[in-house]
Amino acid sequence: MLKITEVKAKSILNKSKIFDYCLNPYTGCQINCAYCYARLFMRRYSGHKEPWGEFVDVKINAPELLKKQLERATKGTVWISSVCDPYQPLEVKYKLTRQCLQELLKKQFPVNIQTKSVLALRDLDLFQEFDEIEVGFTITTDDEKTAKLFESRAAPVEERLIALEKIHSKGVKTFAFIGPLLPGNPENLIDRLEGKADKVYIDKMNYLSTISGFYYRQNLKRATTDDFFRNYKERLMKELNKRKMKFEDLF
Ligand code: SF4
Repeated sequence: MLKITEVKAKSILNKSKIFDYCLNPYTGCQINCAYCYARLFMRRYSGHKEPWGEFVDVKINAPELLKKQLERATKGTVWISSVCDPYQPLEVKYKLTRQCLQELLKKQFPVNIQTKSVLALRDLDLFQEFDEIEVGFTITTDDEKTAKLFESRAAPVEERLIALEKIHSKGVKTFAFIGPLLPGNPENLIDRLEGKADKVYIDKMNYLSTISGFYYRQNLKRATTDDFFRNYKERLMKELNKRKMKFEDLF
């Protein structure tokens, strides 16, 4: 059962090594992907005893705190989010991501936002008002069954693709994050991303040792080898090059 706690954060706009800032409206993530790297440290960091995926701290003061922090902050790109999905189901009720976007929009801070939820479509009106924004969906495979195994509470792949296309069709810069690489058909995946994602990022399964048992139980040991990642990436890149699509290889 999900434990929801409303909390007041001390800081919401934090320095990041990947972008200038990161912003997490929630601590914890209901989507609970089997491979989530945040589970490795966020439980201890947050002091929660519940397993990852079964607690969420809702930072109810996030928008007003952000407003204050933005008054003093140097303009830079804000990554939403680094250790939670900003459009996890609780966002329907709390609208913290939306309110934070509204604050960032007032100051035209560039935004990079990434999700596995089609709730992102709710904020399409805001995305369109930013001078600089990139909206991305994590799409780890084209195979719904495999996605369901690893990301059981995320939107189906097909729905993510439709949402990505809708956002792209409104002139918002989009990306697809293919990471971690999960078994599927790489050529078909790129075919389905063409015309929807302005850029594609490719990453392997990091922290493999923490999830190898899960792979073995699913009879997917073959998808944990260096050969699998290398071959899969080569097929993706070949297809991306063939279609002249922009991409970045992260491993
Ligand atoms: S959506 Fe992202 S943060 Fe949430 S559980 Fe999955 S990988 Fe972790």
